[in-house]
Amino acid sequence: MEFQQGSVDAEELLAFFRCRRLPYLDRFGPQEAKLPPESLLEQWRRDRQALQAAVLERFPGEEVAPGNEALLAAMAAGAERIYGGQVVAKLFWEVDPEGAAEAEPTDSEVALAPSLETEVELTEDNSTDKTSSSLALPPEAIPEFRSVWVSSSLDLLIRDPSSIGKGQLSYLPVHIRIGKRPKPEYELLLALQAELLGSLQGQVPKCGFLILKDGKWHLVHLSRRRTQVRRLLQDYLHSLEQAEPPQVFMARSRCHLCHWREHCRQLNAVAQPLSLLPGVTGSRYPLLQEAGIHSIEALANARLEMLQAIPKLGAGVALQLQLQARATLSRKPLWLQSPPQALPTAPVELYFDIEADPRHNVAYLLGLLVVEQAEENKVVNYYSCLAAEPREEGQAWQQFLQLVQRYPEAPIYHFHSFEVQTCRRLGEQHQTDPREVRQLLKRFVDLHSWVQRSVVLPIESYSLKNIARWLGFKWRLPEGSGAHSIYWYSQWLETRDRRYLEQSLIYNEDDCRATYCLKNWLSQGSVLAPVDGPSPDTWAGH
Ligand code: SF4
Repeated sequence: MEFQQGSVDAEELLAFFRCRRLPYLDRFGPQEAKLPPESLLEQWRRDRQALQAAVLERFPGEEVAPGNEALLAAMAAGAERIYGGQVVAKLFWEVDPEGAAEAEPTDSEVALAPSLETEVELTEDNSTDKTSSSLALPPEAIPEFRSVWVSSSLDLLIRDPSSIGKGQLSYLPVHIRIGKRPKPEYELLLALQAELLGSLQGQVPKCGFLILKDGKWHLVHLSRRRTQVRRLLQDYLHSLEQAEPPQVFMARSRCHLCHWREHCRQLNAVAQPLSLLPGVTGSRYPLLQEAGIHSIEALANARLEMLQAIPKLGAGVALQLQLQARATLSRKPLWLQSPPQALPTAPVELYFDIEADPRHNVAYLLGLLVVEQAEENKVVNYYSCLAAEPREEGQAWQQFLQLVQRYPEAPIYHFHSFEVQTCRRLGEQHQTDPREVRQLLKRFVDLHSWVQRSVVLPIESYSLKNIARWLGFKWRLPEGSGAHSIYWYSQWLETRDRRYLEQSLIYNEDDCRATYCLKNWLSQGSVLAPVDGPSPDTWAGH
């Protein structure tokens, strides 16, 4: 595939930095397979706009329209701060005869690396020939150059104080993001903007600034990032010339909000199904490939000693991966203990799940399902301890403590470590007696670690959603997720539309019920599942 689109946007390059497949699919992928944008991403976009507006209010400056003309005019007028706008320039570099670079640059490479040559879109004097100095060399010695037009939207430019009084003013790029910490991708964007600005003002800024969520300014030195940007751009253009999208390993942290996640899952299920097996991480996958293990079948049927001899894999991991492959192929759970370890049971059992919103730094909903054995029947009640305002978190926590104290003997089932960590934090933050918190945590039973110790399941990931769905449990809000929970709470705070809170409550109750469903299966499923697997009718939570 020939790259003929002619220009690259800085956001594309950042997307390529996060995932080598993403901007390729955005350009060439089947658009009908694209999922709608996640509501949480929309929320982040609005948060960023709000932060940009707050910076503008605090540090007033000139707002300019997109394009080099407007920027150049504001620079020529000596504006102290320039907001908005867009810079476009042509970047040149010498073609690497070995092909696109893949490795991270070493420090010595950073020191030796040539900077990108740039040509501004509005240059009137086109007499400068970037290769003219090489014309006396024999043809094979003339380096080959490539170029591409690159554009970037700008948040803010500030006048470089050190350039005042030295003939020509120069400007430094400032990037505004809602992250809590400076990330490499933000710094790369600044480095790219510095290259583009260099074409306008005659010198490439050596530093820039990041303004993050807390409103603080972070100084960023750009020399190392300039080399990375050059390599990234070359790699990106190289990827766009390929007939197929790059093969990448799907990672939850990167993919769970991506609009291509379903499409990628299907691509990987065909091209590299082994990569979707739980436990096969980005670092383990190439080890298996090098050892000649290319499929789930090969992994399931390999001699265990051979797998355990794979360098850097580890004997325990090799066994775990093989069991996972066998469970996946047979579509049946494999019990690791015979007989399986019994879960604690009691006349009253509690199932606990927390909704939190990191944007507002609050655990806003502590949900508890109380299951009481009454003669032949079970009585099931859901209770919600809700902080409708972030400042009410302490009250919700107290309400929760009083509720669990009503059932002092009841085990408290939850899934994974988040509930434990959050209760520790809530105890510290709201000055709860540490002995009370310790007593509370002693009653916790983590079903995720119970699953990990007891059974291997034929599923793609060991999240509560995946496990409970495999058991036949149905959420009333099928699209619900942790990201939605954050979005619903943020929307409630912004709009005061109570329907958002109600969605959070339904979602949280269903998470508690899914935990209950899993506990039931773990208690009883060991008898049934190894033979037949679970029946959705048997285990459905609703
Ligand atoms: S789903 Fe993951 S692998 Fe696929 S394009 Fe998105 S980030 Fe990349």
